[in-house]
Amino acid sequence: MAVETSTAGLDAAAIRADFPVLAEQVHERPLVYLDNAATSQKPRAVIEALQTYYETYNANIHRGLHALSERATAEYEAARAGVARFINARHAHEVIFTRGTTEAINLVARGWGDENVGEGDEILLTEMEHHSNLVPWQMLAKRRGAALRYIPMDVDGRIDLEGYARQFGPRTRLVTITQMSNVLGTITPAAEVVRVAHEHGVPVLLDAAQSIPHLPVDVQALDADFVAFSGHKMLGPTGIGVLYGRESLLDAMEPLLGGGSMIRVVELHRSSWTGLPDKLEGGTPNIAGAIGLGAAVEYLAAVGMPGVARHEHNLTEYALAQLSDLEGVRVFGPMDAEDRGGVISFYVGDIHPHDVGTLLDADGIAVRAGHHCAQPLMRKLGVPATVRASMYLYNTADEVDCLVGGIARAKAFFA
Ligand code: PMP
Repeated sequence: MAVETSTAGLDAAAIRADFPVLAEQVHERPLVYLDNAATSQKPRAVIEALQTYYETYNANIHRGLHALSERATAEYEAARAGVARFINARHAHEVIFTRGTTEAINLVARGWGDENVGEGDEILLTEMEHHSNLVPWQMLAKRRGAALRYIPMDVDGRIDLEGYARQFGPRTRLVTITQMSNVLGTITPAAEVVRVAHEHGVPVLLDAAQSIPHLPVDVQALDADFVAFSGHKMLGPTGIGVLYGRESLLDAMEPLLGGGSMIRVVELHRSSWTGLPDKLEGGTPNIAGAIGLGAAVEYLAAVGMPGVARHEHNLTEYALAQLSDLEGVRVFGPMDAEDRGGVISFYVGDIHPHDVGTLLDADGIAVRAGHHCAQPLMRKLGVPATVRASMYLYNTADEVDCLVGGIARAKAFFA
């Protein structure tokens, strides 16, 4: 092991003990879980929060006058307040619970986009967006007769800021951009992107699905207008995510889902909406999921996000050095760990990524192989797919060594 991964005061061994699944064996080998960009594992605190809810106070929220419903409502709203603190939102009601990043972005595309984007208007985004920050805008553009324009960037996902600034015109309505690429790991200059957009009076949506789980993110410091992220990638359950929005923008937005909980008065031919956040959360929400996400952000805050980021930075630096020493391995994205997070995509010789993934799995190493829901980026990289290893707070340098050993074995297998 060539790096000390606990220099940041983050005790990976103690953290690992909080995650039951990390003790599992896969194909009779200890699990090496490096598929965190797809979804993270869950600490006992999150699993127990779900269990406690179902075992001791399961009830629907808001409507009941009974004790269980009051407790469920209080815990659901406490989770919202916890998430708001975690991202430093000004108000808890600026946190809207959704199913995940995908639903959060679709909510903006419908609820904000349909009202504010019209014929001939333009939306700026990048070629490295995840399909969930691309397809909803294509759908909006089709509905409204608008157009998508792509911010110039290099093959490592580095934005050309001068070219970006030149793209603004009278028809620019929105900038929507990932804060960290789920393929290249590239961290975009989000604060600068927002600053330039605001000079032109244009709001910015940040796809923070890969950033909020791994970096300290302060939505007020970034001055972002909308921020979308998923609970399951940040130690929380699946089926819960967040749309953060500036209060004034959310207030003016139309709901995506009409139904229970989001109304003030319903008449036979018209209805009026209630206030934030309920207006944008029609129907019974994922109560358990929100409570689980509340436990997840509490866990991450207790560990400390600066420490999480430093730990992953050390591991990424180590992994990049190890991988670039392996002949025939082509790593995508910036080679400087300062510019990226712990998502590393690579290609091994001319072996298909699926074959590499299958061989690594036989060694108990979980990675992802595919287009990672970023087909336009794959085309730009000139590959059909990549192998992707992605880290989190519980990964260790020993696991990076396992990955490198596994790749070397895959190379030998196909030699
Ligand atoms: N954006 C990015 C950058 C992602 O990595 C992902 C998940 N892979 C998403 C959006 C979509 O998240 P979800 O599937 O949880 O809605």
